[in-house]
Amino acid sequence: MRFFCILLMHKVESSPMHTTQLDLRGMSRDSLLACCAAAGVKPVHAEHLTAAIFRRGHSDIATIPEIPHRLRDHLLAHTFIQSPTIAADQQSTDGTRKLLLKMGDGKAVETVLIPAEGRLTQCVSTQVGCAMGCRFCLTATAGLNRHLTAGEMVAEVMVGQQISDHRVRNLVLMGMGEPLHNYAAVAEFVRIASDPKGMAFSPNRITLSTSGIVPKIYAMAEDQLPCNLAVSLNATSDAVRDQIMPINRKYPLAELMRAVRDYIAARGNKRVLIEYVLLAGVNDSLDDAKRLAALMDGVGCTVNLLPFNPYPGSRFARPDEADVEAFHTILADQRIVVVVRRSRGRDISAACGQLIE
Ligand code: SF4
Repeated sequence: MRFFCILLMHKVESSPMHTTQLDLRGMSRDSLLACCAAAGVKPVHAEHLTAAIFRRGHSDIATIPEIPHRLRDHLLAHTFIQSPTIAADQQSTDGTRKLLLKMGDGKAVETVLIPAEGRLTQCVSTQVGCAMGCRFCLTATAGLNRHLTAGEMVAEVMVGQQISDHRVRNLVLMGMGEPLHNYAAVAEFVRIASDPKGMAFSPNRITLSTSGIVPKIYAMAEDQLPCNLAVSLNATSDAVRDQIMPINRKYPLAELMRAVRDYIAARGNKRVLIEYVLLAGVNDSLDDAKRLAALMDGVGCTVNLLPFNPYPGSRFARPDEADVEAFHTILADQRIVVVVRRSRGRDISAACGQLIE
């Protein structure tokens, strides 16, 4: 009976290929504990399971060592381990690697591994496609196909780690999809990823980026979700933001910035990252820079400027270096913490806004 309840609780974790089974990679340690209870074995085996699945990356239940037969039989009957296949693997001249991963139902997402100083950052997708419709983003052109489960996001990271020589240290939820549009699964993924006995990512090394779904920013604060928040702002007026990010018509700038300030206060002055994609002639004027500086004044944010990465068919252009520098200078002069992020993997379309199924 207990296990049946767990089944109901985790119904969302079942992929279309495994409609009555649970994905072990999408289960928190509490759920694994309940699994042990349902199998009639000691709770200590949940620790073994956690270590085998999330630390050692086991993908075959039959070969997980140190668990009793009774638990193994139970797991084989009621669970599976999500194991995507690599449908494409591209490597950039700068070392960035982009994988196309095919999930159990044949749906595909891209994930990107970005090396820096012997460490890896992985850009994780949270949905197949995206419903947000940001005009400068290639992913948006496909629309939303479906949400990913927490287990599928864990599997993305597992595959990324398995094919890499260096350890994946940072996770950025900036791949395909709007993470806060898939809040329940993303929150579960963040909890699993930051579990010190599981994947053991430091919460400071997990960053969730949103286009601005305001109620879910409040949910993150209330849930004290163990990760950083980034907000993809990209405009300093509602007139421009309405045009390039339709979500702004629902949650306009003032409301979004209020949510950011409230989030910072609720999380004990935890800084928020503001991402600003510079689109030539659209949002990169000196007046935009001044308005952005005013918006950021005293808020406790770090600003990342990202010169646009064009893709075939896009109607936006990348600004000149000189314009980027002038924009940066205005913010820096106002003592805003600001960096210009250099794109990685542009030659394999792995840079921000270039991911697609
Ligand atoms: S920028 Fe992000 S939120 Fe906007 S359409 Fe692209 S994937 Fe979705």
